Amino acid sequence: MVVKREDVLHEHVSGNKFRKLYYNVITAQDKGYDTLLTFGGAYSNHIAATAAAGNELGIKTIGVIRGDELGENLERTLSENPTLRFAVSQGMQLHFVSRKAYREKTKPEFIANLFQLFGNFYLVPEGGTNELAVKGTEEILTPEDKEFDYICSAVGTGGTIAGLINSARPHQKVLGFPALKEQFLHQNIAKYVNSDNWELIRDYNFGGFAKIDKKLVDFINMANSLHNLPLDPVYTGKMLYGIIDLIKKDYFPKGSKILAIHTGGLQGKDGMNIRLKKKGMPLLI
Ligand SMILES: *Cc1c(COP(=O)(O)O)cnc(C)c1O
Repeated sequence: MVVKREDVLHEHVSGNKFRKLYYNVITAQDKGYDTLLTFGGAYSNHIAATAAAGNELGIKTIGVIRGDELGENLERTLSENPTLRFAVSQGMQLHFVSRKAYREKTKPEFIANLFQLFGNFYLVPEGGTNELAVKGTEEILTPEDKEFDYICSAVGTGGTIAGLINSARPHQKVLGFPALKEQFLHQNIAKYVNSDNWELIRDYNFGGFAKIDKKLVDFINMANSLHNLPLDPVYTGKMLYGIIDLIKKDYFPKGSKILAIHTGGLQGKDGMNIRLKKKGMPLLI
């Protein structure tokens, strides 16, 4: 197995988030927008990446964050949450909404209200997935990658795997490892792709989004100390755990060449360690 290190594309706009923002940011600039607005949870890689991209390019950013309780004492939230602290340090304006309101974030009324509050902005959906994001993730695979039989990626909203599917060669199979339990993932991906050379492997979400156990912590720490491969606890750790487990179970025909995409997300480790420490669990190194 070979790991393609997309996590090293940029220091702060990591991995697939760089790919997904790239054409969105170009389009926003071409159309004369000076502000990007997007959505995410309190530890979101996408929020951190959008804030950093905006800061680097001189575009204002607004992050609509799930959880209105976080806005009640902003100072405390920022002292406890490295992701949001980073976003604010990059100049992002945070707007906290209740979990209930957050679920409505694709509804026209909710978005109209945001335009009322913030004036004109270029909207990037949660996780950054849209047509332009998929155009960006189609550039992850390069001609040299044609030697592989399997292309593996972690899956959140599906924009990354959609680009991989569209750019994979006919002899390649794309395997997605969802990081969450999600009923509509398959159809969300299907609407962006032109091939059926792919499959979702749902056995390695470790109980749901950002859920973690000691086995996963040990695995991530082992990859780091033994192979010098830093993995994040939400996406790439689970994917790689899955690939290794499938190899042990002889899922892949003998001699298969496997390419695993490292989609980044390492900024999430600090936030996860704060949670692990509270639970008295071993920490990620
Ligand atoms: C966001 C993210 C993903 C999921 O990407 P989608 O395009 O939403 O499926 C995978 N890995 C990492 C590290 C991420 O930050």
